[in-house]
Amino acid sequence: MPKTEKEYTVEEKLANLYKLQLLVSEIDRIKNLRGELPQEVADMEAAIEGLNNRLTNDQNAIAEAEAKINVLQGKIEEATAQIKKYTKQQDDVQNNRQYEFLSKEIEYQQLDIELSNKRIHENLETIEGLKRRLDATSAEIDERQADLDIKRGELDEIIAETRSEEETLREKAKKIENTIETRLLTTFKRIHKKTHNGLAIVAIERESCGGCFNRITPQRQIDVKMRKKIMVCEYCGRILIDEELANENEMRRRRKGILANV
Ligand SMILES: [Zn+2]
Repeated sequence: MPKTEKEYTVEEKLANLYKLQLLVSEIDRIKNLRGELPQEVADMEAAIEGLNNRLTNDQNAIAEAEAKINVLQGKIEEATAQIKKYTKQQDDVQNNRQYEFLSKEIEYQQLDIELSNKRIHENLETIEGLKRRLDATSAEIDERQADLDIKRGELDEIIAETRSEEETLREKAKKIENTIETRLLTTFKRIHKKTHNGLAIVAIERESCGGCFNRITPQRQIDVKMRKKIMVCEYCGRILIDEELANENEMRRRRKGILANV
């Protein structure tokens, strides 16, 4: 541990861990104030992003259908020109066979025009459907964006109100973290994450674990009071300290006014 030259006694380690717990609990309290808001905002943002993607896809599909219509219209023009040409040629034919041949060609071009018109019609219908959906999606985006703005406003307000408090707490927590050996800190963080109330180190109160309220054996209570070894609750795995050590540290913090606004 290059950061901390100082060797801490178990008692000091426990006291530091407990101080860290008090700070972490206050940070948790602030996070609870924000509640579901951050997640709600993130969900709403994701939903709007999805709708925007749909909007882009539909716009692309419309452009594609319009391009197809252009091609088809070109084909119709070509066919019309062909028909005109063949009709004119029919005036100058030498025999029936030639006339018949041109009639067939004209018929073929007419069928082609019919087919193109049918496909143009289909594409127009597709475009119409896409445009209707586009309008609906745009309206939905506007609506959701308005909701998001309100929610984000609420969240920003809470964050602004609690930011400086949280920063102070985080700074203090960081300082204490730097005095705690990595392995112990990792254990602390793991238990903190795992427990529903975020308490990783608790005092023995009325001969029971302050975290899970299971009874602690007399021998274990004595071991905890000795402050010579880091002891954990055999039921919930939380780190245990005696009530006195907890009180000492809490009192000191109260005097310093860190808990003033709790
Ligand atoms: Zn326990």
